[in-house]
Amino acid sequence: MSEHSTSDDEAVEQVSTVVIGAGHAGLAASHFLSARAIDHVVLERGEVANSWRTERWESLRLLTPNWQSRLPGQRYDGPDPDGYMTMGEVVELIERFAKDSGAPVQTGVNVTSVRRTDHGYVVTTSRGELHARAVVIASGACNRPTVPALSESVPASIEQLTTFDYTSPEQLPDGGVLVVGASATGVQLAAEIRRSGRPVTVSVGEHVRLPRTYRGRDVLWWMDASGIWDERYDEVDDLNRARRLPSPQLVGTPERNTLDLNALSDLGVELVGRWAAIRDGRALFSGGLRNVFSLADLKLQRLLTNFDEWASGQGLDAELDPPERLAPTRVPDTTRLQLDLDSGEIRTIVWATGYRPDYSWLEVPVLDPKGQLVHDGGVVESPGLYALGLPVLRRRKSTFIHGIEDDAREVVDHLAQYLAADG
Ligand SMILES: Cc1cc2nc3c(=O)[nH]c(=O)nc-3n(C[C@H](O)[C@H](O)[C@H](O)COP(=O)(O)OP(=O)(O)OC[C@H]3O[C@@H](n4cnc5c(N)ncnc54)[C@H](O)[C@@H]3O)c2cc1C
Repeated sequence: MSEHSTSDDEAVEQVSTVVIGAGHAGLAASHFLSARAIDHVVLERGEVANSWRTERWESLRLLTPNWQSRLPGQRYDGPDPDGYMTMGEVVELIERFAKDSGAPVQTGVNVTSVRRTDHGYVVTTSRGELHARAVVIASGACNRPTVPALSESVPASIEQLTTFDYTSPEQLPDGGVLVVGASATGVQLAAEIRRSGRPVTVSVGEHVRLPRTYRGRDVLWWMDASGIWDERYDEVDDLNRARRLPSPQLVGTPERNTLDLNALSDLGVELVGRWAAIRDGRALFSGGLRNVFSLADLKLQRLLTNFDEWASGQGLDAELDPPERLAPTRVPDTTRLQLDLDSGEIRTIVWATGYRPDYSWLEVPVLDPKGQLVHDGGVVESPGLYALGLPVLRRRKSTFIHGIEDDAREVVDHLAQYLAADG
């Protein structure tokens, strides 16, 4: 980084590229920028791996197996390739990556605005101003929990938590818990809260069902080996939909258990439909659970059939267990369509309804009406502005730890060409 003088003789820090965020995505960008000797700095408002330190619950483990936690120049070399990392282990993994790649990270530096100028960008931070020709936004896709507006009509007697507030069941009052959402987060929290002895109801909308293992291999081995995760963003049929897909119902446990809705029912969790409205103090849930379940079962069936066809085509049948099919998701005999929120039955609501990015600091007009960054494979429509770590950014695997290497290399290739052409 250098200093130069502007016309009014004020010293300004100048750098070719600013990377915002020191999660694995920002650090991967830094790795490839260093490899190309591009002068840069990584600005991080907290510490390296801040999201994993501060925004996750206590029992969380990665749902991706250890062998898959690969980063540029770093492969898992521990004793348990098929295990799933705890949060402490993820923080260590990312810290080691930052150290080994010598990333120029400045921690405790909050980016408060990014503005475009004739020569690039002005990045304003809690420590001052930086001028850069290019900016890589690697500030994360999950900065805020998404909570539907109907939460505002929930009676004050019920405690409401998002997944950012939730740490463990001990923190909850005794009594019934309504978990809203049945993606990875929702099913994991529902199971652990139920095991704490509390009655749990889960409101289920569209979801992605997956077994933990299939034919003796981790289901994510299948996704990886069969090439599904490598599918490029410009080959995906409905990119908008692919980018909005909920996370699969998976949990990483030493026992490698499947955690689908049948597993929740076995634990005594009650399933209800999508939470549609609140009327007269009552939560109203959509009917049609049967349809929601059969859609997820059908998609799972198709996926497993694709896996089987791929395995046969590769001549792998002999070394894998025989094909199997999962029992359909059981539809409860009776499904409640309403729940009286004033009755005291529910003491806590946990919103597991997804996450969204926060670009409140971005003063360049590159957001769509829903507040999502408009980009083409991470190339934002403002010269010199790039993004990493967003869903299906360049491939289906883009938001996962193992997905960043290919994306970061290609985005930095584009950035390097831009800097070279820009002179
Ligand atoms: C609950 C949960 C479980 C997940 N499980 C898995 C899993 O099992 N396997 C897997 O591969 N992926 C998983 N993911 C997905 C993904 O790997 C993580 O979301 C990961 O944290 C994304 O990395 P990132 O570098 O893109 O963003 P982040 O890790 O969020 O890093 C962004 C960084 O930018 C910083 N930042 C943001 N705004 C500013 C600002 N204005 N100024 C300065 N710094 C800023 C943040 O503090 C943060 O450190 C999970 C995600 C969630 C939410």
